[in-house]
Amino acid sequence: MESLKYALLDRGDQLSRELADQFHKLAEARGLVRDDKAPRIVVSIGGDGTLLQAFHRYRDQVGKVGFVGVHTGHLGFYADWKVGELTELVDLMATTEPTTVSYPLLKVEIVTDGGTSAYLALNEFTLKSVEGTLVAQLNINDEPFEMFRGDGIVVSTPSGSTGYNKSVNGAIIHPYLEAMQIAEIASINNRVYRTLGSSFILPKHHHCDIVTDPEELLSVGIDHLVLQFREVRSIICSVAEDKVHFARYRPFPFWNRVRDAFIGYDENGDSGRARKRPR
Ligand code: NAD
Repeated sequence: MESLKYALLDRGDQLSRELADQFHKLAEARGLVRDDKAPRIVVSIGGDGTLLQAFHRYRDQVGKVGFVGVHTGHLGFYADWKVGELTELVDLMATTEPTTVSYPLLKVEIVTDGGTSAYLALNEFTLKSVEGTLVAQLNINDEPFEMFRGDGIVVSTPSGSTGYNKSVNGAIIHPYLEAMQIAEIASINNRVYRTLGSSFILPKHHHCDIVTDPEELLSVGIDHLVLQFREVRSIICSVAEDKVHFARYRPFPFWNRVRDAFIGYDENGDSGRARKRPR
């Protein structure tokens, strides 16, 4: 079997750096090859934010790499391996083929007077105004849909639906559904500005154009990155053609992750709020 090529990104704190050193030693002993330029597996050590950074570092190779996340704090949505499990993870990487789980991404095209910039988001795109409330017209598939005024708009992927989207009352979507969700942040509703008031979900091949005043200075969030734009003519959001791939060396069902992160679960039923039904 050809040696597995991997890259590693750590959060930069002392614990993550120590774990990264430990990982490299274990990997070398098991015959894995470090290759930062063309890895097959990208390991992140830190938290969900570290995996988001790893995703953006390798976004040009997103179809070719499989991501694995190790968390140094609480269980993450993308980072599911624990600090004490590095040896098991490296052993599995050296000896087994992982199952690949693929999740949809969001494509965001920002059209300005100077040209179009395209981005991929793993979690979400957020739009806010730097100078005051955001005013934006939303068109769906080129038809006017609503006029938004408020703090901002969050357009999330299914796997991002448990992030910012959830904090603004969006629904959680299983990442096997190829969709994007549009949610409002504190909309103002009156006779001039009227929005749906709930989040809504668009399937693949639909697109949502957000049109703002070109004079407005906009704050654009792509996952953990924050950018500013002026002279924006429109922002086009759609489900991306590319998907992100996660290398699963053991099962990690999405709904278990949602339960463990938001509800709590205890096999014995001692303290968890979600308990097995007594027989
Ligand atoms: P970070 O790494 O500290 O992440 C912030 C928190 O969001 C962490 O607890 C992380 O575990 C959690 N998170 C990230 N992605 C998640 C997901 N898909 N499902 C559930 N929880 C998730 O900080 P960062 O690097 O700036 O992370 C950026 C992310 O933080 C954004 O993509 C956004 O989803 C989230 N965020 C949330 C809010 C909010 O809920 N009000 C506001 C801003 C950003």
